[in-house]
Amino acid sequence: MAERRDVVIIGAGAAGMMCAIEAGRRGRRVLVVDHARAPGEKIRISGGGRCNFTNIHAGPKNFLSANPHFCKSALARYTPRDFLDLVERHRIPWHEKTLGQLFCDNSAKDIIAMLLAEMKAAGTELRLSTPIGAVEHDGRAFRVVTEHGTVEASSLVVATGGKSIPKMGATGFAYRIAEQFGLTVTETRAGLVPLTLDPAMLAAHEGLPGVAVDVVARHGKAEFREAALFTHRGLSGPAILQISSYWREGEEIALTLCPDVDFAAAIAAARRENGRQAVQTVLAEHMPKKLAQLLVTELGIDGPLAEQSGRRIEALLQRLRDWRLRPPGSEGYRTAEVTLGGVDTAALDSRSMAAKAVPGLYFIGEAVDVTGWLGGYNFQWAWASGHAAGGHA
Ligand code: FAD
Repeated sequence: MAERRDVVIIGAGAAGMMCAIEAGRRGRRVLVVDHARAPGEKIRISGGGRCNFTNIHAGPKNFLSANPHFCKSALARYTPRDFLDLVERHRIPWHEKTLGQLFCDNSAKDIIAMLLAEMKAAGTELRLSTPIGAVEHDGRAFRVVTEHGTVEASSLVVATGGKSIPKMGATGFAYRIAEQFGLTVTETRAGLVPLTLDPAMLAAHEGLPGVAVDVVARHGKAEFREAALFTHRGLSGPAILQISSYWREGEEIALTLCPDVDFAAAIAAARRENGRQAVQTVLAEHMPKKLAQLLVTELGIDGPLAEQSGRRIEALLQRLRDWRLRPPGSEGYRTAEVTLGGVDTAALDSRSMAAKAVPGLYFIGEAVDVTGWLGGYNFQWAWASGHAAGGHA
């Protein structure tokens, strides 16, 4: 005998929990199942343990999707202010870090505790450590077969996220269910991910790991002005993670180093004042010494500033303005913060996240082909899409 509920939500992550709260408040009998031992594991590790839970500037322009209009409806109906109201009602201390990014003062666990308290108040049930065997549909109800029995419901919400960080239980489950029901899944790839450099370049960059510098990172029309970080494998830091979502394997990215500095003026002034100093000494006034050294070495610049030809200095300025790099790959899903692509938005209703062709079936959160920038946008999508489905399921 199958248990009966109105709504079964698979996945107790950010989107699934928000959906449960909203559906529960409407009086629906809700069961959330997850194969993990704890809910909201990605919330727990997010934002360095302090969860960048939203971004006050979040809007459709901050998301990548085959259909950039799809996210508009849900984002407009559940805004960063709505989530912040919830956070404040629970007296969770928070602060804005930079660029509209809101973080917990204390711990990401505050957000998980808040969601669990809201789920309880809404009368929903959470079942953890429950692997899912199969999902069946007889045209009327969904049957979710788990290791701990079968549950039947008229609405099924798939909130199992993307493929990033498989070590934490990420699976391609949502894509499999979408395909089982005839929905298209767009190409998936790792996003917000560090990029690798080839071994020869890494050898030349020896000593740089740990060095950070302000940059504008560019790829096509996308550009992000934040920090870049050299690592043992290649490049990371917010600017690189942001641009990685626009980049594809083997393509070039461009970096402007220290965009606030007018290097042409700085070098001209230094040449007038003390032409005997080394070029890297002038650069090191504005960037880490090791990076300054690498730049001059790579361009074969040696000796005092006064002895450098105009051509050499121009080559250096060009490198500072427009450093072209061709990363051969990324660190992949192992370290990616998100999965780009996913359940095709063309198959979903943008107001409710329901599959147009399968009444009662919903996809929310990262599983859907909507991916945010770094900076609290991905959680805002999880809250907004979860809220949208919870209002209908
Ligand atoms: P998830 O949070 O991934 O939840 C999916 C749930 O489904 C999980 O509980 C999982 O156990 C469960 N599940 C998966 N497969 C199955 C299955 N087969 N059967 C049963 N259950 C299953 N975004 C921000 O906006 N701000 C941040 O600060 C931030 N920091 C991040 C830091 C890291 C290290 C990472 C990896 C991501 C970060 N993100 C951040 C992105 C954000 O965590 C995700 O976009 C968000 O968690 C997606 O929510 P979701 O509910 O769709 O999926």
